[in-house]
Amino acid sequence: MSATRSTLLLSVDFEDWHQLVRRRVGAAGWENPGPALERQTDALLALFDELGARATFFVLGMAARAHPHLMDRIVRRGHEIGCHGDAHLPVHTQTPGEFSADLRAARSTIEELTGQTPVGYRAPAFSITQSSNWAFEILANEGFAYDSSQHDSPALRDRVAPNETSPHLMDAGLWEFPIAVWRIGQGRLPVGGASYWQILPTPILLTGLQNAGSLAGLYLHPNELDPQPLDAGLPPTASSAQRAHAKLREVQRNGARRRAPRVLRAIARRFELIPYGEAHARLDGSA
Ligand SMILES: [Zn+2]
Repeated sequence: MSATRSTLLLSVDFEDWHQLVRRRVGAAGWENPGPALERQTDALLALFDELGARATFFVLGMAARAHPHLMDRIVRRGHEIGCHGDAHLPVHTQTPGEFSADLRAARSTIEELTGQTPVGYRAPAFSITQSSNWAFEILANEGFAYDSSQHDSPALRDRVAPNETSPHLMDAGLWEFPIAVWRIGQGRLPVGGASYWQILPTPILLTGLQNAGSLAGLYLHPNELDPQPLDAGLPPTASSAQRAHAKLREVQRNGARRRAPRVLRAIARRFELIPYGEAHARLDGSA
């Protein structure tokens, strides 16, 4: 059966949920390393080992600097290192110069901590929009070989919606690897992200992935594998408005967290899961 299994691309947007949620609510000391990324990373690595799957970790520069020892752990397990930018700011809110600077900051952190130069990129929250699609040319000029920022999800405004559901070479000279989306007529059902897995029955999700196009992409976040409930753990100085905002984020993220491992196991029984770099090598003829 395995010879005829369809293949999906497995990835992690490697970021520290505590840094991001604390920054979002404006908490003091938000940039300090969060208390949970280490156990989340270990849970992810253990699950991937159990499944015999390697993934691409799109690493956020500021998370890597806060947790330098985790980079080695990921590399030693044979996973690919990609780039998720440095500060997790939407691309469409940046100028081309700011975007280049963010890319370079992330890359130099990643090179320093892993000894590897990432050739794959994923924008924070899929934020390369139609009005900021100049970013593809910058990525190509900066030496990136592929991008995985196009997600044809109705939740993303002004998104760049690829005509093709499969990987393709863009005019900028960069390969694009779209996220898995099930197209039903004019409808779009996002099936590639663990944040959607919490609301879809598994059989429907598996059917959707089967119809999402060859080499479609899956993405997880470390917090979705946390064995413990997420708690923003705001400092005592936080206001009640900040606490309410953080609570909302906790509830949203904890919903996805509960189902992700079970759903990924079901996906792995049905599909071959490989990292992006391996798919790129196959397509680019360098395998
Ligand atoms: Zn992200």
